[in-house]
Amino acid sequence: MNALDKMISPGAGHSVQGGFSRSVADIFGALGLSLDAHLGSDLKVFSPVDGSELAALRTDKAYDMDAMVANARAAFAVWKDVPAPHRGELVRRYGLLVREHKEALSHLLTIENGKILTEARGEVQEVIDICEYAVGLSRQLFGLTIASERAEHRLTEYWHPLGVLGLISAFNFPAAVWAWGTTVALVCGDSAIWKPSEKTPLTALAFAGLLQKAAADYELAPDHLVQVAIGDAACGTMLADHPDVAIVSATGSVRMGQDVGVRVQRRFGRPVLELGGNNAAVVAPSADIGLALRGTIFAATGTCGQRCTTLRRLIVHEDIRADFVKRLIAAVGSLNIGSPLDDATHVGPLIDKAAFDAMQRALEQARRDGGIVHGGDRIEVAGPDAYYVRPAIVEMPAQSEIVREETFAPILYVLAYTGFDEAIALQNGVPQGLSSCVFTSDVREAEKFQSAQGSDCGIVNVNIGTSGAEIGGAFGGEKVTGGGRVSGSDSWKNYMRRVTATVNYSTSLPLAQGVKFDLDID
Ligand code: NAD
Repeated sequence: MNALDKMISPGAGHSVQGGFSRSVADIFGALGLSLDAHLGSDLKVFSPVDGSELAALRTDKAYDMDAMVANARAAFAVWKDVPAPHRGELVRRYGLLVREHKEALSHLLTIENGKILTEARGEVQEVIDICEYAVGLSRQLFGLTIASERAEHRLTEYWHPLGVLGLISAFNFPAAVWAWGTTVALVCGDSAIWKPSEKTPLTALAFAGLLQKAAADYELAPDHLVQVAIGDAACGTMLADHPDVAIVSATGSVRMGQDVGVRVQRRFGRPVLELGGNNAAVVAPSADIGLALRGTIFAATGTCGQRCTTLRRLIVHEDIRADFVKRLIAAVGSLNIGSPLDDATHVGPLIDKAAFDAMQRALEQARRDGGIVHGGDRIEVAGPDAYYVRPAIVEMPAQSEIVREETFAPILYVLAYTGFDEAIALQNGVPQGLSSCVFTSDVREAEKFQSAQGSDCGIVNVNIGTSGAEIGGAFGGEKVTGGGRVSGSDSWKNYMRRVTATVNYSTSLPLAQGVKFDLDID
């Protein structure tokens, strides 16, 4: 156990004094940040590790939001004129700060969100990686030169900064999703306001606090370049509705996206929606079974089933189903469920009681639909206010309504198939379209699954589980997953405005498409 582990062991230092618990105070102290400006009584923050209170914060009201947006507009007016590679320098410095404080940030993430430490470290690493990605991008925001149909004309596309980014994020990736959007938006020349989940505001204040610190030390960065708005859905609505917030990137449930997407669209802002998934793995008879088992188990149980890309449906060939499911149940049964601060733990807690209740409701419905449930029961680990569960494997007779829904908990529904087209139809037969994978050694199946005849998801993997995407590729999905891509590939274009410019360097004025409009003017 290192010094940080000792500080934040459940039951040792989770009592709130002066607005926040000793563990939180120690971590913010180690980061050189103060929480004083955010202390209040409107929002209590609890640790899923043991249910103890971590902090009591004040939430931002409508007048706070108006002031924040005005400040963000003013910051944008300055920042957009800073050359992009110099904007990248701020992100480079921020990445170094996150790297320096990786351990403290990982511990804060674990005590507030409940994911096991190795996954928390992975999330902080993702923030570091995306900083490096964004720094590189700051020299590559290039447009196209297009062949003009007119002689002595040049047709070009430029990309310019767009404005204020409002970023609404979910509890399950309380830092990475913000970093995906914000670091890229910053190099694109935008300013940003972050509305984190009301379940993980401390992680947000820590990550944004370090960026504010880097900005304060960088002479080219204006004040209020990055701000944090603390609050619940109502606070998100303020961002969605505000006419001066050019881009609203919203990550969370489909229900949230349906509301935010319509609000932003109604005022012709730019929505970027990253919503729920209902991800499937097809396991074919030719699959490397050991690989498929390992890939399946991590994807289904990692982050206690609370990843947008969590594996929720296993579509396994009838010939291998019985054996595969038997081995899967045995392996899942052997996972260590316990404190996420313990290195031996595989599965930490659910975020809260509401998540536990939703899981139990789904399992009851699955039983009513004829499903056979293995696991899924609650395990007492750290008192009555912490919700630890054994992941559930549910053998289903058909893809019923409950299987077609996303329940944000570790439930893996198992379905059988006989022909590969039937497997693809089952995979596509849900409203969501985020992530999918196939385990096969048959090149025809692997190619078909990725083709237009195959999976309809934004992420399509072969011999890899559905979760754990790399930052370089565009991340997001189709159908009710929202169609947005927050980061990766050319998603930076979401944070900029496109200009098409035509320059005539001839002495005549030919019109496009051969249109004639002759005038006799000297
Ligand atoms: P949630 O929808 O409850 O909350 C997400 C965020 O939206 C929070 O900050 C919340 O305060 C805010 N919010 C909620 N309703 C709102 C509204 N009507 N207007 C404005 N803001 C609103 O989601 P959650 O429980 O925090 O996270 C789990 C969900 O997020 C799952 O559905 C998961 O699949 C999804 N998710 C998707 C991705 C992705 O990239 N596709 C990534 C992470 C999580």
